[in-house]
Amino acid sequence: MSEADDACELAALTTTLKRHLERRQRAGIRFLAKGEPAEAKPVSVIVEDLPGGTVEDRFADTKASLQANTLEELRAAIGDCQRCKLCSGRTNIVFGVGNPRAKLMFVGEGPGRDEDLQGEPFVGRAGQLLTDIITKGMGIKREDVYICNVVKCRPPENRNPEPDEVAACEPFLTRQIDLVRPEIIVGLGKFAVQTLLQSSVPISKLRGNWHSYHGIKLMPTFHPAYLLRNPADKKLVWQDIKKVIKELSGENT
Ligand code: SF4
Repeated sequence: MSEADDACELAALTTTLKRHLERRQRAGIRFLAKGEPAEAKPVSVIVEDLPGGTVEDRFADTKASLQANTLEELRAAIGDCQRCKLCSGRTNIVFGVGNPRAKLMFVGEGPGRDEDLQGEPFVGRAGQLLTDIITKGMGIKREDVYICNVVKCRPPENRNPEPDEVAACEPFLTRQIDLVRPEIIVGLGKFAVQTLLQSSVPISKLRGNWHSYHGIKLMPTFHPAYLLRNPADKKLVWQDIKKVIKELSGENT
């Protein structure tokens, strides 16, 4: 096993153990059970004693690496990232694609199988639907917008990203948005929108209304993968997209 594999496995084990301990803590268990080491400490101390230090310590280098001035520098800073357990199952880090000066940015949840294999966001069936929305619906070339996800590595079995994974990867998205500085962001689906807005309000209540992400107009809408399962809701997404088209055309100014 390579050093990278070791580090990746350690990160995954640490996260798993931390979550386990946090679950115990939430359940009111402050000490390890009888039969475990006699010098068992309160859970909070055990978490801080994990190899590699606290989670905050392990991600401290993330802050330092986010001084990137271009998307290329940011991608280089992410490197062969092992900051969360999603590193163990990925084929490629799916960073983002498109015009680095795009007025319009789409932010999804995370890569699926096709995206993981190709290293590009939204290239599978859901991606084709998004491409149709952009090209046929909005009349814009796909390469003229910027497309990325909240987490850059594929969650296993396409499960939802977990809070620790979103937290680990979010600084990269924040910097990515900072560097592209779009006029409008379209948030695709619950996880992207709730992450961007730091909200737990359901996507069904957020979609269709303008929000603000650090001064950038944000339109939440359903994820294309959801639309593949619920085609009747395409008309709702079209309503949202029409608002974006209107805003881009300056009709609201
Ligand atoms: S999902 Fe993000 S934080 Fe986790 S390993 Fe991939 S790039 Fe790193």
